[in-house]
Amino acid sequence: MLGSLLDILFPPVCMLCNAALAEEVFCKPCTSSLEVITAPLCEVCGVPFPSSVGPAERPCSECLAKKKIPYVSARSALYYTGGALKAIHDFKYYGNVGLKAPLGAVMASAAKAYFGRPTGEDEEAFYLSSDVIVTAVPLHKKRLKERGYNQSLLLAGELAKRFSMELDRSLLKRVRLTRPQVELSGTERRHNVKGAFEVAPGRDLDGKEVLLVDDVYTTGATVTECARILKERGAIISVLTLARAVSI
Ligand SMILES: [Zn+2]
Ligand SMILES: [Zn+2]
Repeated sequence: MLGSLLDILFPPVCMLCNAALAEEVFCKPCTSSLEVITAPLCEVCGVPFPSSVGPAERPCSECLAKKKIPYVSARSALYYTGGALKAIHDFKYYGNVGLKAPLGAVMASAAKAYFGRPTGEDEEAFYLSSDVIVTAVPLHKKRLKERGYNQSLLLAGELAKRFSMELDRSLLKRVRLTRPQVELSGTERRHNVKGAFEVAPGRDLDGKEVLLVDDVYTTGATVTECARILKERGAIISVLTLARAVSI
């Protein structure tokens, strides 16, 4: 009753383009503009390979050339194009926080596919261990004040809720206000985030699995720096981002 009244007052519309809808969150054109990343991809950083030739599980040339990668694996749900680009802009810069649930659902299916473990009872059923600590790349308090929320933390919260994992909101702290990474080149990005984060004192992370969440993976500089300091404290880190910018 209340539901149908609400439908008359606020007819359901696509959260991305405002097209009228029956029940879905996104309309069909918007749904098909969300491009899901699929294998084959780098087993370390998760970059999708342009060709399906070769073994599905192998490191990319960039990961092979790197000496130390502080995380075990990084994965992303969507290509940072089309619908994902619009969704993340709306979510991050235009205050459309309602997108956290549908975008969280998209991330949850990627989390299950990449980090899930079989339950043992049902071959189709996967779970994420409740021992995993979920956390997000933090914003500097000045930026948090401007925006009012940390979009990555909202996504991390959705994941924690769905898989009954512990959400640690303050595991990482951004101690230096950095220039927005979008303005910078690859090398500049690494310098920009070096020493920008701190791990909260007093947390026992030795041997603990941490799932680090961010909205977009571009060069990986930010998540790598966060993973580096978490690893120094003994944590084992996996990275999940909603989207990934892939240069073609
Ligand atoms: Zn739409
Ligand atoms: Zn790689």
